[in-house]
Amino acid sequence: MAKPEGKCAACGAVMTFRYKPMPEWNVPGLVCGQCYSQKLTEHYISPDRREITKR
Ligand SMILES: [Zn+2]
Repeated sequence: MAKPEGKCAACGAVMTFRYKPMPEWNVPGLVCGQCYSQKLTEHYISPDRREITKR
């Protein structure tokens, strides 16, 4: 059995639920719900919102 990757890549807390962060957040792994919602808020609230361009 694979060992569970239970730590948040952003805050290091043990995750109950894992969320896949957006590439532009530069988070090297999965994040907990708290960090995810926090980063999501920051992302959308950021003053000059850049348009997301897909390559
Ligand atoms: Zn976290």
